[in-house]
Amino acid sequence: MSNYIFPQKCCVCMGPAETQQKVSKNESFGSVNASATVNVPICLNCKKEKFDSPIRTCVITSIVIGCILGLVLFPTDKDLGPIAGLIMGGFLGGIASIFFLQKVKDKLPVRILISNTDFKANIFFENEEYRKLFLKVNYNI
Ligand SMILES: [Zn+2]
Repeated sequence: MSNYIFPQKCCVCMGPAETQQKVSKNESFGSVNASATVNVPICLNCKKEKFDSPIRTCVITSIVIGCILGLVLFPTDKDLGPIAGLIMGGFLGGIASIFFLQKVKDKLPVRILISNTDFKANIFFENEEYRKLFLKVNYNI
């Protein structure tokens, strides 16, 4: 996916591009594993608000809920006391966050879509103006 040309504007708000955002996708279709990673131009504000914050919130929420459930559900260890449940729950919450992160990624303003027929990856930009510009410079359409 590295041979795409990205118009040097923020792909979320069309403002000046200030940095890059890594967007990746892993998907398995039966025995076939497909993955793609791309760096898109973005402004600092959109990177923070549309990517960094939702991802951080997802991970923190998963771990906190895991810790709470761990305290409630797991038996108190005779040596560690309720901390055993806390550690166990936090650990499971961390694993669960991998699953929830996929859901968050599917709602980000820039997504990679992998075809289930030829396993080719395509980039989708929620910003219509950027999407059109991207298609124009890469495919001349
Ligand atoms: Zn922006």
